Amino acid sequence: MMGTDFHRQVQDAVRDEAQLRAALEQADIAPMLMVLVQLTGETALMEEVAPHIQGPWNFMNSVPEAMKARVRDALVAALKDYAASGRAAPATPDPAMLQRMMSAGVGQQVGADYIPLLLEEMRLAPEDLRAVSWRRDPGPSLRDFKVLVIGAGVAGIVMGIRLKEMGIPFQILEKNAETGGTWLENTYPGCAVDTPNHFFSYSFAKNERWTRHFSKRDEILAYLQDTANRNGLPPHIRFGVEVTSARFDEGSGTWRVAIRRSADGGEEVLTCNALVTCVGQLNRPFIPRIEGLDDFAGPAFHTARWDSSVDLKGKRVAMIGTGASAMQTGPSIAPEVAHLTVFQRTPHWSLNNPNYHKEVAPGMIWALETIPFLSQWQRFQLFWASSDGFHATLQVDPGWNQPDVSLNEANHKMREMIVDYVRQELDGDEDLLAKVIPSYPPYGKRMLRDNYWYRMLKRPNVALETGRIARVTADAIEMQDGTRHEVDAIILATGFMASKMLWPMEIAGRDGVTIRDLWGDDDPRAYLGMAVPGFPNLFVTYGPNTNLAHGGSIIFHHECQVRWICQALREMVEGGYATLEVRQDVHDDYNRVLDAACEKMVWSHPGVTSWYKNDRNRLTVTSPWKLLDYWRLTKDFQPAEFTTTPARQPASAK
Ligand code: NAP
Repeated sequence: MMGTDFHRQVQDAVRDEAQLRAALEQADIAPMLMVLVQLTGETALMEEVAPHIQGPWNFMNSVPEAMKARVRDALVAALKDYAASGRAAPATPDPAMLQRMMSAGVGQQVGADYIPLLLEEMRLAPEDLRAVSWRRDPGPSLRDFKVLVIGAGVAGIVMGIRLKEMGIPFQILEKNAETGGTWLENTYPGCAVDTPNHFFSYSFAKNERWTRHFSKRDEILAYLQDTANRNGLPPHIRFGVEVTSARFDEGSGTWRVAIRRSADGGEEVLTCNALVTCVGQLNRPFIPRIEGLDDFAGPAFHTARWDSSVDLKGKRVAMIGTGASAMQTGPSIAPEVAHLTVFQRTPHWSLNNPNYHKEVAPGMIWALETIPFLSQWQRFQLFWASSDGFHATLQVDPGWNQPDVSLNEANHKMREMIVDYVRQELDGDEDLLAKVIPSYPPYGKRMLRDNYWYRMLKRPNVALETGRIARVTADAIEMQDGTRHEVDAIILATGFMASKMLWPMEIAGRDGVTIRDLWGDDDPRAYLGMAVPGFPNLFVTYGPNTNLAHGGSIIFHHECQVRWICQALREMVEGGYATLEVRQDVHDDYNRVLDAACEKMVWSHPGVTSWYKNDRNRLTVTSPWKLLDYWRLTKDFQPAEFTTTPARQPASAK
């Protein structure tokens, strides 16, 4: 934080003491405590409070009110002292002090190895530690270098911002008319994030104004678009063009990218030195092959292609699927439809989070915006809450005696805790409980956040169907046991073609070999999820085995990937290379270690079917790594892992 910013903030904070005190009443205690320590360097009160903090979430502490009042008083005094004295902003605490503060703040031991990652993530100091800078002046060679980015969603936005910062010429190709990607396309009722928002945001574009702890789609979309606009991305984005294919040209070491304009269907070929895909894993809806689905007479649509022209009020609605999209859609439409039948093939696990439905108190928003360092410490708390804490418990204990239903003791305890919660939500309805509790271990499929799903199932106008669907007719869904559900509309909450990555683009590398030749429909592999041998100068974000399932935020992963890609591009530009290509042995070794790590994780459990893996039980989509592992793996691009060819030619010359 620059000195003047700090002083302005401190002055703003103390201008109206009554307002400051009222705001602190609504802010979280642990981040306030951290700010106090940072401002004063005094740890005595922190040590007194620490035993009352039992976890990173704000609902995991039992700090007595009188103690909270002392923290607030001390913070007010510290802010007033800074305002009156005009003293410089305190330095970032040293690593040992940070570790103690962090550990006290979350009531858990924060390892010293996390400190550098957390400093980046929190941005306690003004420097942007994730920005990539040139090691030598790239000079005129940059003029001839061009990057094409496919997609202006969550990943494309950060990719564009970083390329712009580096001065690398680039264009983003976006099939839609606006930025936002998945948050633009998904408009189903109840669409929201289920990662806490003060962490689910770019580290370089903090937002203190989230109105909810887990915001709804419109607010997230507005944030993404605002971030893109503030950073001057729109002139770099070509909207309404869909990339249909990309071919590597061996002679020139460039990519030829074919696009189709949505306005007139016309086609063009663009050329670039490096191609970055930012198309996500969850973009192409999966439409199940159910006999007769096309013959249904009423409206039938996928959650990601929500048809807002259809009024579901008073209709008999079928919803197929019980994943994250269904979890948000079902409870949102149940109160208004005449009847909702939920078709569950296999149940999901779902955790309760007391903040999931809460708005952020106005005083807390004011405090996050006004009090120096508070939003950084808030981010830390939520990062830690969503970080690697569970990772060890998601690994198989080979000696565990109930391997079908859980992995180890901690995982079994979690199972019991969730079962107790669900039983309560279902008012002890044991028949329903038996239907909704998975037979596989918790976290086997994506862990959901309960959006009042179980209460929805208890509604008189909601029914849970757990049989197998046989066919769809013009007005009904028929089950294999002969049951017939007459419905007016069908919602397909059936997920995405995640394993068929980069589809439907045809991407051809050296010798005309395509990504589909290599990966088939469901077996994608890449080095670090980003680089593929035979596909020089191609970088994939959110590629194979980079989805997060134990915690974290996909934005964190995107920032790790984008930094690494920017370092790779820097290597190309500074070295004047025509091509940069990951070595086959490096790719293969990485995948061997990755597969071994995946096999130990809960997502590979034989009792689980999910979009995380293919039907040979290989995890293709999800990462086995802790956030810290992947951060380390991607922090420093290693040129020795790549082969290069010299003498780059300008993309524009071909
Ligand atoms: P999903 O998790 O893949 O769920 C698809 C559902 O459809 C499953 O319940 C699946 O059953 C069912 N299904 C598929 N084919 C079927 C068939 N032929 N017959 C009956 N049922 C069938 O998809 P999603 O809910 O769209 O979520 C995908 C991912 O998107 C999430 O895991 C998450 O990463 C992301 N997402 C996130 C949020 C958020 O809150 N941030 C919200 C929505 C989505 P089986 O389980 O038996 O296969």
